[in-house]
Amino acid sequence: MIGNNGLTAVRAAILQAAQAAGRNPNDINLIAVSKTHPADAVRSALLAGQRNFGENRVQEAAAKFPALRLDYPDLRLHLIGPLQTNKAAEAVGLFDAIHSLDRPKLAAILATEMTKQNRKVDCFVQVNTGLEAQKAGIDPQDAEAFVIACRQTWALPVVGLMCIPPAGANPVPHFIALRELAIRSSLPYLSMGMSGDYPAAIAAGATHVRIGSAIFGVRPAA
Ligand SMILES: *Cc1c(COP(=O)(O)O)cnc(C)c1O
Repeated sequence: MIGNNGLTAVRAAILQAAQAAGRNPNDINLIAVSKTHPADAVRSALLAGQRNFGENRVQEAAAKFPALRLDYPDLRLHLIGPLQTNKAAEAVGLFDAIHSLDRPKLAAILATEMTKQNRKVDCFVQVNTGLEAQKAGIDPQDAEAFVIACRQTWALPVVGLMCIPPAGANPVPHFIALRELAIRSSLPYLSMGMSGDYPAAIAAGATHVRIGSAIFGVRPAA
């Protein structure tokens, strides 16, 4: 059995960050990012009461999670990595939330699949707040119109926005920019904050923090 020291420490730090920000800790959803870690590590967290998990690849999640769901039907699985349209059907069948909706073509196919499979998957629109060429996400100036189109044209259940600030940069301006965009679009949820910066994300209003290495330990190099 793998220990849960990381999970315990992260829970305590979330509580502390919420209190420091005058926020209700229950408004902050901890997504344990289990990518590259075996199912046993997920089971250990499940035994400790953790229910929200994040994976960044459809194939890896498909190999790990269906068996775990049989034992824990209330488990919630979040796709946090980029999604190719040829994997959209499988993603709709597997995940409860998708944090990487970032383009019209993907919105259209997700809508078609949700109808076809009669499944509602919560969507977060990913915003490329750092305008990084290599990074997924819609440009900030296009975010508001894209959210409107997701709702009106495709009737997608958009619940929030997601961002990954540029590596090495101060993440706080990115968190604040994402919050402002969410307010403008009347979206209640903000998926932001990782192992290195989640207390700052909570101070800026994060409702969903995506935390991997602080819970499960360092990942093997890709
Ligand atoms: C891997 C990953 C995380 C978790 O990263 P850690 O630094 O290990 O907490 C969060 N969000 C996304 C999109 C990721 O790919």
